[in-house]
Amino acid sequence: MAKSIGIMGGTFDPIHIGHLITAEMVRSGASLDEVIFIPSARPPHKDGIHAASPEDRLAMAACAVQENPYFTVSDIELKRAGPSYTVDTIAELRENLDGAELFFITGADAMNDLYRWHEPKRLLQSCQFIVATRQGAPLDELLIAEKFTAEERRHIHVLMTPHLEISSSVIRTRIRAGLSVRYLVPRAVEEYIERRGLYREHDEEL
Ligand code: NAP
Repeated sequence: MAKSIGIMGGTFDPIHIGHLITAEMVRSGASLDEVIFIPSARPPHKDGIHAASPEDRLAMAACAVQENPYFTVSDIELKRAGPSYTVDTIAELRENLDGAELFFITGADAMNDLYRWHEPKRLLQSCQFIVATRQGAPLDELLIAEKFTAEERRHIHVLMTPHLEISSSVIRTRIRAGLSVRYLVPRAVEEYIERRGLYREHDEEL
């Protein structure tokens, strides 16, 4: 039988337990065989505002998934030149994961913005979307209905996940202020950040 594979894309600067809990809830809720975390090389919508290098973001993602046998990390977007368009990532994955059904996992905020992504209609045809909605961050059903046809909307599935008030920017701000991030990121990620001296100071507007 064809595998069902979840794709969790993100900037992951750094990856945190909100990302991991969402991926695990979706994996078990949607009976996925595995979830691949894909750090974005140059997110089309966040051009030039990374605080950690792509290599460090990839390494932190690898640290974060090491305890979950269903999770892996891919550098597919880091190896590709230019912006990380999801439609290209899905097409490339399709070639390599023959026959697998792909489920792109996003939060509601990202999904509400989908119509502005690169070739959103082709993207929706090429995979399923699982929207992990959290309390306080609802899916804008009216906007989705306005932008996509009923056929396209059949590729969008909603799954409620726990709400955790955690963001990568809060983590970066805490580290810069010398505050603890214990439990906000897996221990291995915390150790990696400490070892590499990440996020202590930089020019970025947080
Ligand atoms: P991100 O900020 O790194 O977050 C990754 C995912 O984790 C998002 O879906 C986000 O949901 C979710 N998340 C964040 N904080 C969370 C928390 N506390 N608890 C649970 N989940 C949490 O990702 P991003 O930069 O928005 O990008 C997401 C993906 O969309 C990437 O693969 C990116 O390449 C893709 N994208 C593609 C295009 C394009 O192709 N043109 C444009 C935009 C984005 P929320 O959305 O709810 O924050």
